[in-house]
Amino acid sequence: MGWKEESGNKTFLEGEVGSFSKKFGDLSIALVYPGNYSAGMSGLGFQKIYRELNLVDIFRCERAFTFPSKGYSLERAERLCFFDVVSFSVCFELQYLKIAEILKSGGIPVSVNDRGDRDPIVTAGGICMFMNPVPLYDIVDVFWIGEFESKGLELYHELLKSKGLSRGERLKRVSEIPGCLVPSVNDKKKYEIIRAGFENMESSCSSIISDGAQFKMWLVEVSRGCSWGCRFCAVKWVCGAARYRDKKFILADIREGLSRGLKIGLVGPSILDHPYIEEICEGIIRINGEFSISSARVERLTENLVSLLVSGGIRQITIAPETADCAARKKLNKKFEDEKVFNALNICSQAGIESVKLYFMYGFPFEEDAAGFGDFISKAGKIINISVSCSPFVPKPHTPLQWNGMRSKTKLKALFNEIKSSVKSLRIKDFGGEDIKSSLVQGALSRSGREVFHAVMAGRMSSKEAEALATREYEFEYALPWDSIITGCDKGLLWKERGKAFGEK
Ligand code: SF4
Repeated sequence: MGWKEESGNKTFLEGEVGSFSKKFGDLSIALVYPGNYSAGMSGLGFQKIYRELNLVDIFRCERAFTFPSKGYSLERAERLCFFDVVSFSVCFELQYLKIAEILKSGGIPVSVNDRGDRDPIVTAGGICMFMNPVPLYDIVDVFWIGEFESKGLELYHELLKSKGLSRGERLKRVSEIPGCLVPSVNDKKKYEIIRAGFENMESSCSSIISDGAQFKMWLVEVSRGCSWGCRFCAVKWVCGAARYRDKKFILADIREGLSRGLKIGLVGPSILDHPYIEEICEGIIRINGEFSISSARVERLTENLVSLLVSGGIRQITIAPETADCAARKKLNKKFEDEKVFNALNICSQAGIESVKLYFMYGFPFEEDAAGFGDFISKAGKIINISVSCSPFVPKPHTPLQWNGMRSKTKLKALFNEIKSSVKSLRIKDFGGEDIKSSLVQGALSRSGREVFHAVMAGRMSSKEAEALATREYEFEYALPWDSIITGCDKGLLWKERGKAFGEK
């Protein structure tokens, strides 16, 4: 590694409090985020795994990113090929296309078949691995199908115990641990997602404060899963019904962050659903702390709660009507009327919120045009400053809409142009969203199997291939690539839910 990269690492390390600098460990692990430092260090899950691994005396865990210094660890600028284990934490499908490049830069053979006894064991975990690990079967040795806090450490203990044995024997032993999917040993077996006891998790918060992270906040986890069950979203169907951490543990984590003089970032899907959310907000405000939330369900934006958010320093809120067409919204299982959104915007405006970000998707299988979008935005913009994000709908595995393909590139372009021209003359603070081309690649990776091996190896997918794969429709009887993952939600139920989206009884 050159001096330039090393000095880049130094800059990031000097801007951190809470990282580990172990020199020794019986098992060395490179924990890799397939993105840059700033994004990786803004994720609570990544920080927690790093900490848990380093808290075990006999393990030495270092981090690696695509920037700075792709292929080398951050802490000691060690090339990835010199670690015993290289573990990827994968949160987005587009990150699949970065893994081969990272392995190459790190001096590790990309294909599992080309690795020998002296090469690191390559593992992967994260929400995408619960949804559909199959596109990575040929470059990852072991997938962890579960929440790390459950039994994630067992995998590393076994890899330490089996050091010195042949690669094949080690993988065979690892494959016997519940939650460890090893395609080279058994790619036909079914795997149930291993969940952790979340409600009584004493600590689930940041461990590193970093100047280089996207958000300099103390992250505190509030909830996992979701009970709303929107038909396009994986949270309920993959992560299960909502689980809430005990408020006494949440408040203890909050106090720790506030004692360090930091703003609190409350983390979780649908945070405002926590049965004690008001007390949690009041607990922060009482000690003059500030906090932020990622997004809010409109049903939860009551006068009382919004005034607490404002007292906690929040000036911008994100809500997701998903579509401006109320009938389409109901098909997605978001049952609120337009009026509910406008009412929430009024409450926000009166309480002192300065702007609201509205999230929409377009290209749902039952959507032919974007009629009404301009009117909806015009009405919203008269109530409060708004910014708008519009992204193509990407169907996700294990959701009721998993059998449906994305709309063609031509159709998506037509819908986007219609949306854009309908808001052209309106006062919007900001208008953006995911681009169509990368959404189609995301859609292709999300619902494919091993056929995307060459794209994953090459780190790119042609537009033509992406569109062909992303627009595929599956029949109910079709064996889906991700059928090997058991979420606890029956396929028949998902099909029934899908039927409801299409107006079937
Ligand atoms: S979109 Fe939000 S409310 Fe709906 S299921 Fe997903 S996380 Fe829950």
